[in-house]
Amino acid sequence: MFLSRLVYYSRPVGLGDADVTDILTKSCANNYLKHISGALFYNGSWFVQALEGARGPLTELFLKIAADKRHANVRLVEFTFVSQRLFAEWDMRYIGGGEAQEAIIHKFMPAGFDPNLVTESGAMARLLRELADVTPADPYPRS
Ligand code: FAD
Repeated sequence: MFLSRLVYYSRPVGLGDADVTDILTKSCANNYLKHISGALFYNGSWFVQALEGARGPLTELFLKIAADKRHANVRLVEFTFVSQRLFAEWDMRYIGGGEAQEAIIHKFMPAGFDPNLVTESGAMARLLRELADVTPADPYPRS
């Protein structure tokens, strides 16, 4: 299998906490079956998601996600072949916004959280990995 990583960001549309829980529950179940790993950041204003796996299933999943009405303005940041997974431990690691994350976000986005301003290749995936590392208690562990 040629391993790939896809990263995008988007704007949530009319979401409540229960909707995010629904998305994560469904994501963990579906991704496990397709050997897809990843992380989903959500801070109330933005989603940033990284997905890793074989190129075919990743493409199919991204098309489904991009058409999902629970978010809008979906922007693909990168879709590249990679030698190893950054999020191998998780079907879908949830990362909420919070104090512990602020210092890391500031390092990548000194002017405040805005994914449009992150242009260096691979930076968004590294940001998600660093955020995952400081986020305690993952309610959605690998099945
Ligand atoms: P079903 O769950 O049976 O859904 C059928 C259809 O109904 C889909 O088109 C779905 O978009 C829509 N739908 C379901 N529930 C709702 C709802 N509450 N409100 C509006 N529409 C709804 N899915 C994954 O499998 N893996 C992921 O990593 C993943 N990440 C996501 C990240 C974000 C930010 C968002 C918004 C969605 C994500 N999803 C993810 C969900 C994805 O868009 C599809 O909803 C899901 O994959 C469909 O699963 P299913 O084929 O089993 O269909």
